[in-house]
Amino acid sequence: MNTLDRREFLTTVAAGVAASAAPLRAATGPWATGAGAAEQRVSAPAGLADPQFRPLPLGAIRPRGWLQRQLRIQADGLSGHLDEFWPDVGQSQWFGGSAEGWERAPYWLDGVIPLAWLLDDQSLKARISRYIDFIVSHQRADGWYGPYPEDAVAKRYDMWAILLANKVLAQYHDATGDARVLDAVVKSLRAVLGGLDRTPLYGWGRFRWYEGLVPVFHAYERTREPWLLDLARRLRAQGVDFDALFATEDLAIPTARRGLWKWTKHVVNTAMATKASALSWRLDQRTADRAFATKMIEFLDRHHGQVNGMFGGDECLAGKNPLQGTELCAVVEFMYSLEHLFSVFGDPVFADRLERVAFNALPATFAPDMWSHQYDQQVNQAQCTINPEHGWTTNGPESNLYGLEPNYGCCTSNMQQGWPKFVAHLWMKTADEGLVAAAWAPCRVETRLRDVPVSVSVDTDYPFRDSISLVVAPARAARFPLQLRVPGWTEGATVRVGSGPEQSIKPGTLHRIEREWTGSTELTLRFPMRARATTRYNEAVAIERGPLVYALQIGEEWTRVNEDKPHRELPHGDFEVRPTTPWNYGLIVDDRRVDDSVRFEERPIGDRPFSPEGAGAIATARGQQIPSWKLVRGWAGELSPADVAWSDPGRSVSDQPIEDVTLIPYGCTNIRITEFPRVRGK
Ligand SMILES: [Zn+2]
Repeated sequence: MNTLDRREFLTTVAAGVAASAAPLRAATGPWATGAGAAEQRVSAPAGLADPQFRPLPLGAIRPRGWLQRQLRIQADGLSGHLDEFWPDVGQSQWFGGSAEGWERAPYWLDGVIPLAWLLDDQSLKARISRYIDFIVSHQRADGWYGPYPEDAVAKRYDMWAILLANKVLAQYHDATGDARVLDAVVKSLRAVLGGLDRTPLYGWGRFRWYEGLVPVFHAYERTREPWLLDLARRLRAQGVDFDALFATEDLAIPTARRGLWKWTKHVVNTAMATKASALSWRLDQRTADRAFATKMIEFLDRHHGQVNGMFGGDECLAGKNPLQGTELCAVVEFMYSLEHLFSVFGDPVFADRLERVAFNALPATFAPDMWSHQYDQQVNQAQCTINPEHGWTTNGPESNLYGLEPNYGCCTSNMQQGWPKFVAHLWMKTADEGLVAAAWAPCRVETRLRDVPVSVSVDTDYPFRDSISLVVAPARAARFPLQLRVPGWTEGATVRVGSGPEQSIKPGTLHRIEREWTGSTELTLRFPMRARATTRYNEAVAIERGPLVYALQIGEEWTRVNEDKPHRELPHGDFEVRPTTPWNYGLIVDDRRVDDSVRFEERPIGDRPFSPEGAGAIATARGQQIPSWKLVRGWAGELSPADVAWSDPGRSVSDQPIEDVTLIPYGCTNIRITEFPRVRGK
């Protein structure tokens, strides 16, 4: 294909189509030509079930407001510059260099492609296109990409990176419509089909087989080549059956500190695998697949759930203790899984969860300028230091540093996808040519519904505020439905359409409005946020309001470390963070009247929305210091049930004065206490 230009390719494809009964929409339709082109309804061809909701082409949704600032921070930080100085991307074998030639460059592309296209960042787009061109133009005649060994039997190469690279290229094809890239994906997938006979899936590929279904389905919907579904089934057959795994292996038990690293308990594999059954369901609509996604997440919550929406996993499943960490790769992968789960099954629970991870776990684990990140974040994270006395399950002493590649460089290359894919999945298309709002954040959607160009502008400071304004503007009068997700946690939610009456809407549902839309129609949504006190590990209490978790604001001292290590020149250095104010507070909270115990105030959202000083909301609670709660081996000491006194109303664990303490959104903190002992003030 290297010798064919795009037009020749289209001609070739069209010739193939003439002979088949089903018309090939892809080469001329919207999904081949990217966001700028006219969109048509696309249905999956025979053999593949349609998802409940279809993501819009990349670029149809643009970030606005605080979300636009957040993406700009990301592009101006490590994400937009990693290839300029980090050999594992810049000198990758994927781009003709001699550094790493496996997952790292594809990982980076997987996040910066949507980042660059959503921001319409010309310079980043141009660099990415050069890298993609290199990969595609160096594809071998047998379909394998450059880094794949000539003799894959003698020199093994874990297929995971090939599946990932094809997922990346499919995304690039979605953004640009570059038909050469679709052709490269098809050729590569054909090579994979043959390769699976020679070297069946093992290692990472065996645990991540379903990622291959993303490009397989992308290619199948555009080429209708039946062998692609054979490949999907082959990948599933050779890969791990997670339903069986969760039934047989005791995944409930947290990995011991400094315990055994296991494939089956790997938190990133686990986060990725939560979508396996959704992809599998599209193949043959097995009832068990639909049920398993929910069952798997419930299981993980029961045994490993953390208040930030994630599972304990540093980096093997680590239980509910707020001192155990969660790897950043798992955060961004769980978000991507939830985007798939909502798309395929349409259950708003998955979108509620997506917001919880996106607004809490994701931003918390980056420095506010997004030049540095952690490998592991902790829910109770009193300080972040190089710590040989650490208590991670299988990670090393640098895992909670803010740095370039603390512990290991996977997160450095994989972290890019979190925000951009979230933006790309805020709205999706419904089967009846309407739109569904999956997650709420300021953005603008431009698409075609029933052949009419339509824009929807979302103006809001959600999740820091409870109201959202939508302006729906079709180019000409048109009838189509909107489905608006009403979060499960709200009480008394309302919608007002134009100057009509305020109408109550039901939490935990997709509220449908179908009407003839003319001109510009403003809709106002209100999702009242009541404070909640939730009981966590060892009876500790956490404060939540709406989709946000709140954590203690702690004064910080940042100290540069590892200056002698390669590539740590500023602004991409490594930092320890230590507390400069007390962190060992218990809270005085009345669970039945949390709003009386904790006072919430709105603040302007800062230029850096997820920073301590930029927090768009703060809370004041009453608490007492607990002098016996101290740093132990560099971490906040373990909370034992004896430290939490609320269940024993006659007892106070602290004779310290009662103070006002400031809580800020978890995502705005760098160090924090989130799960507090309950104290009863005297
Ligand atoms: Zn990682």
